[in-house]
Amino acid sequence: MALQWINERAGYFSGAVTIGYIKGEDTGILIDAGLDKQIAKKVIRQLEAESLPLTHLLITHAHTDHFGGAPTIQQAHPEASVYAPAFEEAVLAYPLFEPLYLFQGNEPVKDLRSKFLLGPSVKVDRVIGEGAQKIGEIDVVIHALPGHSHNQVGLEVDGILYAADAYLGRRALEKHVIPFQIDAKQVYETLEQLLKLDIKGALPGHGDYEETFQETVQVNMKRQEALKVAVEKEVSGRDFISLSDLVARVLTFQGLKVEEPGRYALFRTAILSFVRWLEVEQTASLVVEDNVLGLKGGEIHSKNESNNNEATLA
Ligand SMILES: [Zn+2]
Repeated sequence: MALQWINERAGYFSGAVTIGYIKGEDTGILIDAGLDKQIAKKVIRQLEAESLPLTHLLITHAHTDHFGGAPTIQQAHPEASVYAPAFEEAVLAYPLFEPLYLFQGNEPVKDLRSKFLLGPSVKVDRVIGEGAQKIGEIDVVIHALPGHSHNQVGLEVDGILYAADAYLGRRALEKHVIPFQIDAKQVYETLEQLLKLDIKGALPGHGDYEETFQETVQVNMKRQEALKVAVEKEVSGRDFISLSDLVARVLTFQGLKVEEPGRYALFRTAILSFVRWLEVEQTASLVVEDNVLGLKGGEIHSKNESNNNEATLA
């Protein structure tokens, strides 16, 4: 996990998760904190060994592999300011939200409380918005990159984009097969946005820095298109498919065999993130049949006109 430099001030620690680092005169910005204490400690030690400053930590999104190491960094550098985007900041404050939404709102059972799904609480000092701004004395541009997570951001400095999990490096994409996402349509739109950026290169949260990152983004888009077709295919040939059957069939079709509930919950969320896309395009609608939640292909059902049947979240 050596610190590698892209130019004289933009660098990164490559590992299971990329941890970015930007060096200014007095400012040192870390981008994400890694999964746990061990990883954060390695980063802190290397910065100390090279007498590099650490004044800011930007957490791109509230997934445990990106923020689990944050409290260790805060303990070692209490003077450092922690930045995160809105909404993600709320999950960082209450990390139980992550396994909670993965378990469909229920108090998570043991399998969903692993260190990969339930991280430590992180106190964020400043909620960061989009656009050009200064962090310390360094000029950066914060880009909204939603879809993988509700309000994920990336950071651009000197024409180099730290893209978080807006796209995956090719090896990571091969490994994951179905990338985690909460809104497949937004993921695709974010990928389209990345292709329009006038930048020198980009670095994903899982993968390497590439000047020709557009090719990797296009590979991600192709995968997203193929997954959409796979979901549509299951829906279109049938009057009804339960959500659990849809998940099972897509997983099997993609050659995946999932054995742990935590991993299943991640894939279920990723696959069902296509439902809204199909709904927007009116190729499927969510229905309940014989007390089973599922999808009906074709035209959207006209909603029950009467209001006396509305579900409420009391
Ligand atoms: Zn993530």
